[in-house]
Amino acid sequence: MEKYIGAHVSASGGVENAPLNAHEIGATAFALFTKNQRQWKAAPLAAESIALFKERCEEFGFTPKQILPHDSYLINLGNPDVDALEKSREAFLDEMRRCEQLGLDRLNFHPGSTLKKISDEECLALIAESINLTLDKTCGVTAVIENTAGQGSNLGYTFEQIAYIIDRVEDKSRVGVCIDTCHSFAAGYDLASVGGFTETFEHFDNVIGFKYLRGMHLNDAKKELGSRVDRHDSLGKGTLGIEPFKWIMEDERFDGIPLILETPDEVLWPEEIRMLKGFVK
Ligand SMILES: [Zn+2]
Ligand SMILES: [Zn+2]
Repeated sequence: MEKYIGAHVSASGGVENAPLNAHEIGATAFALFTKNQRQWKAAPLAAESIALFKERCEEFGFTPKQILPHDSYLINLGNPDVDALEKSREAFLDEMRRCEQLGLDRLNFHPGSTLKKISDEECLALIAESINLTLDKTCGVTAVIENTAGQGSNLGYTFEQIAYIIDRVEDKSRVGVCIDTCHSFAAGYDLASVGGFTETFEHFDNVIGFKYLRGMHLNDAKKELGSRVDRHDSLGKGTLGIEPFKWIMEDERFDGIPLILETPDEVLWPEEIRMLKGFVK
């Protein structure tokens, strides 16, 4: 097994540009939005775009397990409002179908928010129901729940909350998890110390299980441990420091999945990728 390392690259001008952009920064993995992440509606993917995307992925050696598409930030699969929930579910289904069309096998999303109108449990149950409804209508794409910083009323900031959702998903073979290092630290998981790192991933394995891990987001954090504030920093420049990223690269539990930078300064991506590759033993 090996480490697949890359960044969330631009797909502007068409999804077919993402593998090209990833290749140019020396990446062996990448993330992308398959539509504008700040808009509800998007034109369907053009047949030529899909063909070129697949062609370039093959040319540059990106297989589905190296690619982690991210859904729109507007979607809230636990929205307490019936109409708003329906809108989110439709948009999520469209995102899943785009992944199917591109031959991708996973879609990364933020679980959802209570908007302070329902209990956490009610919201988590709605999220699980949303996942079940979507998986019923699609095939081949795994719904990958990202842990959050717990900013505002966002859920998914504890491993227990994510496990609560997974417990209620009928098809366990098509649900997974993406751990974001910045979000974990902001949520109170101390990845900056060797003891905290070890304990956090032991806890993750006990509560969720490494068999569900389908990707990682590698970001340093701007804020302190437990801040519940989602602010990414470049590797080694924030409150996490460089050490946790070395530990991840040296750890085979993170082999074979996309390891994605969402760090703010994209000029540094080639350097960050080179550095991470250098940490692999
Ligand atoms: Zn995300
Ligand atoms: Zn992330």
